[in-house]
Amino acid sequence: MELFDDSEVRRVLAVAAHPDDMEYGGSAAVAAWTARGVQVSYALVTSGEAGMDSVAPAEAGPVREAEQRLACAAVGVTDLVFLGFDDGTVEQGLPLRRAIAAQVRRVQPDLVVTGAFRDTWPGGYLNQSDHVAVGRAVLDAARDAGNRWIFREQLTTGQPGGGLEPWNGVRTVLALGSPDSTHAIVVDDTFGAAVASLEAHAAYLAALGDGTTQARDVLEGVLGGAGPQVGARYAVAAEVFRF
Ligand SMILES: [Zn+2]
Repeated sequence: MELFDDSEVRRVLAVAAHPDDMEYGGSAAVAAWTARGVQVSYALVTSGEAGMDSVAPAEAGPVREAEQRLACAAVGVTDLVFLGFDDGTVEQGLPLRRAIAAQVRRVQPDLVVTGAFRDTWPGGYLNQSDHVAVGRAVLDAARDAGNRWIFREQLTTGQPGGGLEPWNGVRTVLALGSPDSTHAIVVDDTFGAAVASLEAHAAYLAALGDGTTQARDVLEGVLGGAGPQVGARYAVAAEVFRF
C-alpha cells in the first residue's frame, strides 16, 4: 500500500449507489479535501429507498435523502444531487452512463471517487449488484464525458439537461475500499467528521440488523485497518484508475 498523492486535486465528484455508501470511510477523505478548499460534489444514483426492511420505499426514500444531506453537511459538502434510479435494481447500461456523464460535465472534476465494485469486498464477502453496476458505469462515464459526440444532447443549448460542455479533465477514478486497493489517503485529522457523517444516517442505522450498529466502531474497523499500512492511524484504501 502506498500513499495516494492528492495534492493537485482541485475538484472532486463522488458517485455513490446509495445514501450512506460514502460514509463507510470515504467521507473521511472528503472532509480532508473540503477542509483545504477542494470543491466536492456528490451524485447519488438512488435514494436508498429499498434499504430499510421495515419501511416502505415511498417513506424511506425521503428519510434517506434527508439523512444524506446531513451526512454531507458533516464533511463540508453542499452540492448533492439524486439521480433517481431504482434502489436495488440499478443496471450498468446507457441510461446510467448518460446520467453520470452529465454530472461529470456539470461538476468538471479532476478526481472522481466511487465505491468498490469488485464482486467481493475484502475478506471475500459478496458485494451488492448496485455497487458493481455503478462502479463500472463510473469508469465508462468519466471517459464518455470528454467526447462531444457521446450523449451529445447534453451539449445542446435549449434541450432539457443541455448546455453542458465536454469535460476530459478527469485524471483519476478511485474505487474506495476495494479488495484490490493499492493506495491510501491518510485521514487521521478527519476521523471524527467521518463518524459524524455516518451517524447522520440515524434512522437507517437503527433499522439495520439488531439496531445496535455503532458508527465509531464501524469506522475504527475500516479506517483503522488501512491506516497502519501507510504508517498512520486511519486511512482510506482505494483502487486507482488513471486516465
Ligand atoms: Zn450501498
